[in-house]
Amino acid sequence: VEFLNVHKSFGHVEVLKGVDFVVEPSQVVCVIGPSGSGKSTLLRCVNHLEVTTSGAILVNGAMVGYDVRGDRLVEAPEAEIDRRRAKIGMVFQSFNLFGHMTALENVMVGPVKLLKTPKAEAEKQARELLARVGLADRADNYPSQLSGGQQQRVAIARALSMKPDVMLFDEPTSALDPELVGEVLDVMKQLAADGMTMIVVTHEMGFAREVADVVVFMDGGVIVEQGSPDDVLLRPQHERTRSFLAKVF
Ligand code: ATP
Ligand code: MG
Repeated sequence: VEFLNVHKSFGHVEVLKGVDFVVEPSQVVCVIGPSGSGKSTLLRCVNHLEVTTSGAILVNGAMVGYDVRGDRLVEAPEAEIDRRRAKIGMVFQSFNLFGHMTALENVMVGPVKLLKTPKAEAEKQARELLARVGLADRADNYPSQLSGGQQQRVAIARALSMKPDVMLFDEPTSALDPELVGEVLDVMKQLAADGMTMIVVTHEMGFAREVADVVVFMDGGVIVEQGSPDDVLLRPQHERTRSFLAKVF
């Protein structure tokens, strides 16, 4: 994933003011920063849920929302945008499961509807994914019958069902009771160990230290500082990073 001078405004308010960085395949990048610094907006721009005002974001070398025609950019066809978006898994703070579907159905629905995977095959894959997130025995439960941590793990399995090239996490554990945070972070650690490319907005500094290849500190719509977890979290160069870390640690 390449962020090339990404700008995003809402009306007259510029929320992203020129963001540049590259996420290599299999890298885990943790994005930290104060409320309102633009972290969620940046993630939402990756899968074209928000449209950048200028600059570009490339996923596997291509823009999600646009095609290059000669020396011009043209909007990609809606169906093509959906197809590209499906390869970018997104997990939100709120679990966003389909409440009227069981865990198994939640994990099957994407492949069946979007990828036209035969139902039996989709079910087999979904059961494997539920096992991978530790929920093999919960396949027939509805979201309301699951804890927050279990729901979030189903949400991760659902995103993985589309065989994404990259996974985006926006504060995936912020809505969880403290005792449920670990089970979700463990699934994410396993995913990272399996080589998934991940961009994770998080306040979990322990996770960032342990799992991230790169930590990015954002403030005011720009990247103030980026580097290894130890450099950014233990030896920050910028005063803004230091004062943020003093508040969260
Ligand atoms: P938090 O840590 O609280 O989640 P954040 O870093 O994710 O914050 P964003 O949600 O990206 O921050 O918001 C950045 C700024 O953009 C905020 O000032 C927010 O009010 C503004 N903003 C976000 N979405 C919209 C929108 N759809 N319309 C107008 N302003 C928006
Ligand atoms: Mg946010």
